[in-house]
Amino acid sequence: MPGSSGTEDRLDVAVVGAGFSGLYLIHRLRKLGFSVRAFDSAGDIGGTWYWNRYPGARCDVESMQYSYSFDEDLQRDWNWSERFATQPEILAYAQHVAERFDLKRDIRFNTTIAAAHYDEAAQLWTLMTDKGEAIEARFCVMATGCLSAARDPEIKGAARFAGAVYRTGNWPHEPVDLSGKRVGVIGTGSSAIQAIPEIARQAGHLFVFQRTPNFSVPAKNAPLTPDYVASWKDDYPALRKRAREETRSGTIYEFAVKSALEATPEEREAEYQRRWDKGGANFMHAYTDLVVDERASETAAEFVRRKIRAVVKDARTAELLSPKDYPIFTKRICVDTDYYATFNCANVTLVDIRRDPIQEITPTGLRTGAQDFDFDVLVYATGFDAMTGALDRIDIRGPDGRDLRSKWAHGPRAYLGLMSAGFPNLFIVTGPGSPSVLSNVITSIEQHVEFITDCIDHMRAKGLARIDPAQEAEDRWVAHVGEVAGGTLLPKAASWYMGANIPGKPRVFMPYVGGVDRYRRACNDIVAKGYEGFTFA
Ligand code: NAP
Repeated sequence: MPGSSGTEDRLDVAVVGAGFSGLYLIHRLRKLGFSVRAFDSAGDIGGTWYWNRYPGARCDVESMQYSYSFDEDLQRDWNWSERFATQPEILAYAQHVAERFDLKRDIRFNTTIAAAHYDEAAQLWTLMTDKGEAIEARFCVMATGCLSAARDPEIKGAARFAGAVYRTGNWPHEPVDLSGKRVGVIGTGSSAIQAIPEIARQAGHLFVFQRTPNFSVPAKNAPLTPDYVASWKDDYPALRKRAREETRSGTIYEFAVKSALEATPEEREAEYQRRWDKGGANFMHAYTDLVVDERASETAAEFVRRKIRAVVKDARTAELLSPKDYPIFTKRICVDTDYYATFNCANVTLVDIRRDPIQEITPTGLRTGAQDFDFDVLVYATGFDAMTGALDRIDIRGPDGRDLRSKWAHGPRAYLGLMSAGFPNLFIVTGPGSPSVLSNVITSIEQHVEFITDCIDHMRAKGLARIDPAQEAEDRWVAHVGEVAGGTLLPKAASWYMGANIPGKPRVFMPYVGGVDRYRRACNDIVAKGYEGFTFA
């Protein structure tokens, strides 16, 4: 590749990313005897949990399930302190894993991969770092994450703001003191919903600029009790197996057996209330038809709206916080602690930028059509170029020089979300077309890492140098992903699942709605048929 200023050892596998995918890839590939190195822009491991350090950041999948299952001793030894782990605790867990398996010696930090080009004659990927170094590898695995390309919206005047600017998706590592400050937060997605109550506790005044309200359920977070921990640890292998093989979400919830429309209004009320009181995303599993039938979904949506009205004292604010123009669960459900109650605080103002959009950011705050707002600190909680963004930032070229960006210009196309035809020996972990963001992502990561590493091992055993999905297998899978999504309400919302949060991004439903159980069976079946749909050379 032109511009290269040196080549380090030729690797069997180069991994881009040192989050939970990258860490497990290193561990597994090394055990199989492959040379592997991971590269990450960050200064340390952790991926999403390295960058998203905003106040209140925690996982919305329960700690006992949001962790690796591949090593029984690891899962028994590690002790989570709360039902929903904080970002620092998850990062401490990642550090523990890295130390336990001595993973960091095969990671290069502060190294951004800017390009990856495949040389057909040499059958090698050459990865180019942002510093102009080249790395050669037989296989390249993009462990780049689905929600790793944070984005600032394009708002006129943004560069003129004279105060401090922070981003939830790239929060400073040093403590940020917001005490007594006037703070403006743009965005009301999962990140903002976690950060807003914490920021409100410190800030002199907090302005929340909301374009679209989100549905949020209470976390009811609490310290884990020894009995609850034991109920998991005593049966961990079986429970993990069940999560992987028998659930759609890769997480064990109380799964519904009945349609919401078959239940009486009183039964529904009691069931929603019971789940609301228990807290967490379990709420969305109350009935079987909540993501497929609009009338069923509306019963859950109206329950949440009533809760908002009950908590939020100002009727106008409560109305603004109540989503009405998309079915519940078609955007990722948010899980909060005190979010709605925060709007009862005298120092918090909700600003409706749907009705009165932001015109520009000014040196002292921002201006909507009707009003000027002055603040000292601006927080962007404006989300990510999800699923494709991290790949889009790398110049990925196949043997004929064709780049992935052009191939995916009308939406991502990948066989099983794992490989895209025309890009041999390039794997993607939790790529578009796989359950990824609709699942407990660690469950999905483990399955993908095992598929990829087994495949590379299989190729070594058979003396095969090159794997590429067949175009028609990819086309069939992409059509299947679209069909399954089309059978649900999910494409009805302008969500990041659809690429709708990025101006100009094609509107394609990207993750696979079929469930991790069905997806895993499809993958296993394909392997059992000699990697059906893949071509080898
Ligand atoms: P998000 O859900 O995409 O929310 C971004 C917010 O910014 C939305 O309210 C959006 O409004 C607003 N926004 C974007 N551009 C804007 C603009 N130009 N002007 C005004 N408002 C704008 O992003 P996120 O909150 O970072 O969450 C992303 C995903 O990360 C979540 O869905 C979840 O999967 C994951 N996450 C998980 C956790 C957890 O585990 N607890 C926590 C945080 C994030 P519109 O809706 O109108 O576009």
